[in-house]
Amino acid sequence: MEDATASLTAALFGLEGFVVLAAADAGDELELLVETTAELVGCPACGAVARAKDRRPVWVRDLPVAGRAVVICWHKRVWSCPHALCGTRSWTEQHEAIAPRACLTERARQWAFEQVGRCDAAVSRIAAQLGVAWWTVMNQVIERGVPVVEDPARLAEVTAVGVDETAYLRATGTHPTEFATGITDLTPGRPARLLELVAGRSGTVLGCWLGEQSADWRAAVVTASLDPFRGYATALATQLPDAVRVLDPFHVVKLGLSCVDDIRRRVQHDTLGHRGHTGDPLYGIRRVLRRRQDRLSTTARDRLHAGLITGDPDGEVTLAWTVAQDLMSLYQLTDPDQARTRALALIADLRAAPIAELARLGRTLHAWRAELCAHFDHPDVSNGPTENLNLKIKNTKRTARGYRNFAHYRLRLLLNHGRVREDHPPTRIRTRRPSLAA
Ligand SMILES: [Zn+2]
Repeated sequence: MEDATASLTAALFGLEGFVVLAAADAGDELELLVETTAELVGCPACGAVARAKDRRPVWVRDLPVAGRAVVICWHKRVWSCPHALCGTRSWTEQHEAIAPRACLTERARQWAFEQVGRCDAAVSRIAAQLGVAWWTVMNQVIERGVPVVEDPARLAEVTAVGVDETAYLRATGTHPTEFATGITDLTPGRPARLLELVAGRSGTVLGCWLGEQSADWRAAVVTASLDPFRGYATALATQLPDAVRVLDPFHVVKLGLSCVDDIRRRVQHDTLGHRGHTGDPLYGIRRVLRRRQDRLSTTARDRLHAGLITGDPDGEVTLAWTVAQDLMSLYQLTDPDQARTRALALIADLRAAPIAELARLGRTLHAWRAELCAHFDHPDVSNGPTENLNLKIKNTKRTARGYRNFAHYRLRLLLNHGRVREDHPPTRIRTRRPSLAA
């Protein structure tokens, strides 16, 4: 019976080389008294069979058990050498599972790192589960994570990159909004991932990072997708002269939609003399205006038409909406030549438009026409994966309730979104036969 209990606790505890002698409730925590199974130990100097001399308790935290934090009390043996002539008198036993003076077992350290660095958990939450300080967990993330993200192999075999700005710290009373430049891997055939995050939003920071990469790496990049920011385009042209620059469809459509918004706000103010609020016809359709025409339900379509008829007497919002829809429909075309012809015609029309906001959009798109049309020849560099990635990045930001330390922010993002993922399906439990032959 005693053997059965011992094997049960050993199986639950699962740390090889240790046995559980006792378990006790210690408030919210579980305290486990353990010792090693080592019985026959040789003197490290002379090899004589050591004599057990004493025991010394050390406390260390381990993985939570059934939702409770665990403290292990390890009764370390103190051994002594029986050989009178040997210089070694006594020593304390050591085990690879628990490093000397550590406050966490090795497996708890690894678990903490995996939770934060792979499962995107908040450091504070893992620290609470283990019953340790925030920094104890963060130190593990740094110690184990930095070699992973700095491994040059992580950047290997990239043929398409994307460049995008992201706000990493919102403005407060004491500092302005801080931006960072994200470089993503858009290589076709695999999920997008983050290659690097550099502080700042300029062609210089992007150019510096690209310049640090090997000539072979830079030569392998065939396409570079970017948002319409001249600094990024210049850096890409200088550092990746052979790569085709592609303007992200997402950003092109965004330019068109913000033009619709600008005109809607102006017309709203001109016709009603105040900012839009509930009950105003244009304000009521502000979200419908941003959606693709062919995805509108009949009800939404009717609302859109009704809103435009009452709220847009001169048809300015209607015209801007048509332009935005035309921009979106460019990306539905499968024939690159047709798409290019239509895009250039649309840009020419916009530049000649009598509405100032539309003419400005025309000038912007004209300046980016080469990059805009390049997308039609490289449709595989799509914005879908980037958007998905941006969503995940936002999630990481929320998990941690914002970041003040850029190095921590970069490390967390690269660990969680910068690796090629190999997710394994969970083991099925319903159809499995029990391993315990009863
Ligand atoms: Zn000895």
